[in-house]
Amino acid sequence: MKSYFSHLECTNCGKIYPSTEPIRTCLSCSKVIYARYDLEQAKSEVSKTIFSSRAPNMWRYFELLPVLDNNNIVSLGEGFTPIHKADNLGDNLGLSNLLIKDESFNPTASFKARGMSAAVSKVKEFNIKELTVPSAGNAGGALAAYAAKAGLQSHIFMPQDAPEATQKEVSITNATLNLVDGFINDAGVQSRGLANEKGMFDLSTLQEPYRAEGKKTMGYEIAEQLGWNLPDAIIYPTGGGTGIVGIWKAIKEMEQLGWISGKRPKMFCIQAEGCAPLVQAFNQKSRFAKAWANPKTIAAGMRVPSAIGDYLILDAVYESGGSAITVTDDEMIEYVKKTIAMEGLFLCPEGGATVCASKKLLDLGLINEKDSILLLNTGSGFKYMEVI
Ligand SMILES: *Cc1c(COP(=O)(O)O)cnc(C)c1O
Ligand SMILES: [Zn+2]
Repeated sequence: MKSYFSHLECTNCGKIYPSTEPIRTCLSCSKVIYARYDLEQAKSEVSKTIFSSRAPNMWRYFELLPVLDNNNIVSLGEGFTPIHKADNLGDNLGLSNLLIKDESFNPTASFKARGMSAAVSKVKEFNIKELTVPSAGNAGGALAAYAAKAGLQSHIFMPQDAPEATQKEVSITNATLNLVDGFINDAGVQSRGLANEKGMFDLSTLQEPYRAEGKKTMGYEIAEQLGWNLPDAIIYPTGGGTGIVGIWKAIKEMEQLGWISGKRPKMFCIQAEGCAPLVQAFNQKSRFAKAWANPKTIAAGMRVPSAIGDYLILDAVYESGGSAITVTDDEMIEYVKKTIAMEGLFLCPEGGATVCASKKLLDLGLINEKDSILLLNTGSGFKYMEVI
């Protein structure tokens, strides 16, 4: 297998960097850097029919991932999660084609595993030995697991109110758990501080190009699992936005590869009422979001007051003709309960937010009864016992 990873490119100013350097953010403008591939060559050499014969994990898309030598892959079996047809729930909500991609099946019970598998593999390829990350919870748990598997040292910075399960999964590994008095952004300052001081590699959301590549595989999977078709809408619970921008990037890559054609899905960005910087920016038709002053929600993954990739998330929403709306914490719990009662799936609160959002979007006329609607359940309800 050969990766077509060719270079890094700034999403803002277009500056190009070699694929062989561990660059994190743009050295000119400090914005987000993306991994780029030689898609022309891949188009002529890689057929989408090869994937069905490969193992059911995200590394089946190795050609479109940034690791050059497959011996460096650090895998716990992440990806290729099921897409459930949620007919009982769909009937109840008035949606005849409701799909739930269930990311709780991932190692460490959240989709953060995808990003960390990609990033830890790449860091191993660079021969870097120590990592730091700020995390609302699940990213820390995932990094601790992948670093353990790779034999690397990791330092996790979490706000004190991070879910107990995520604190425990970090503290029982070899990782160091630093509980921070403040929000995820405060944890970020400490994480990058340690990394800068000690020459470690910091994996803050979208402040390095590799986690988004892992999360992008959700987009490849959605297409492959639906017979190389895409749904009419994708509803995504948004925090730092790696997943929504990753899926959008995957859609563009697959078009360039000639693997999909036709209408792109509308991308819907869902946030909590108590922390909705992107929804506020969307309502103001802005491309950048103002930091949210006092983020408050039980959905730790969405407790992100400001995102470096705000313009990438909002671009995806605007370009796709989607929208951005909020859900309250009570609504999240109500829909977590509804979904387990009707479908047997124990969603995380973030996943519950997408179910509630599908109802709201239907009522608002932003999606239609017969549309195929795909929700991302980004993690397991079992990691949130104290709030459910
Ligand atoms: C991190 C996280 C999110 C938000 O994901 P982003 O891609 O950073 O927007 C949503 N749900 C859960 C469970 C998470 O852990
Ligand atoms: Zn730049």
